[in-house]
Amino acid sequence: MPEVQAHAERMTESLAGHRLARFELLNFAALKTFDPPVDGAVGHRLSEVGRRGKYLLLRFDNGQTHVVHLMQGGRLRPDPKRSRKPKLGLGRWVFDPPDDGDGEGADDSAWMLTEAGSERKAGVWAIDGDPLGQEPLDHLGPEATDLDRDALAEILAGHSKRLHGLLRDQRVIAGLGRMLANEICYAAGLSPFANASKLDDDQVDRLHRAIGTVVADATEHERTLDDIGKSVDRPSKVHNRAGEPCTGCDDTIRTVEYRAYTVYYCPTEQTDGKLLADNTTSKFLK
Ligand SMILES: [Zn+2]
Repeated sequence: MPEVQAHAERMTESLAGHRLARFELLNFAALKTFDPPVDGAVGHRLSEVGRRGKYLLLRFDNGQTHVVHLMQGGRLRPDPKRSRKPKLGLGRWVFDPPDDGDGEGADDSAWMLTEAGSERKAGVWAIDGDPLGQEPLDHLGPEATDLDRDALAEILAGHSKRLHGLLRDQRVIAGLGRMLANEICYAAGLSPFANASKLDDDQVDRLHRAIGTVVADATEHERTLDDIGKSVDRPSKVHNRAGEPCTGCDDTIRTVEYRAYTVYYCPTEQTDGKLLADNTTSKFLK
């Protein structure tokens, strides 16, 4: 989420106030809605680019919002070349030059959504009216950064699940991915496999503080970049550090491997020295 937040801020800086000249759909699979038409925003100004969970919200001043999900390999970048058949291209927003203020010499600008890999999961939803209560945003839990300590405690108490999985469950808490879940559990000194509903008051305090500081630090880092970077380049204490010495103690960072992701942790600081193994038979029942 910090990378999406910083990207939304960069896009607002570049594009707020610009009028949408056209939207070019480069891959039909990328458009997830057909009603209202995505062209409904053409001729209208972009008010801002916001964020909800891991989604970018391109809000236009006629009330239409283009919701964009980048997934793993998606990028939304300035596209000065505008080639007719761009490799990996899903869609392109072309904006008129700003016609107010100091638009002198300003060029029109285009931003293209691309997706590496073959998953074709990134996409665009065109939504009229308040997007928050509509697909695909309506199933999202509260923003991780909006949760006060008691709201977090209530969510935890209601979910008898492993902490790492709960933190990543966008329907419960929105905005945290695999890396932040690892980093937050480490910063809180909690096992990624701790049962969320059994955390005591002190552990809830630590978790709440860890969410705040880990997200704030990561967002600060992302704001220094001019595009969404690779996750391997993001500063981390445990994530992507399997087998490396822990920076906080003498232990070594350990992992539990899953097909789609890896849990990283420091045994000394998080599990009383115990090594975690996934011994559930229900790991595919999420
Ligand atoms: Zn450690």
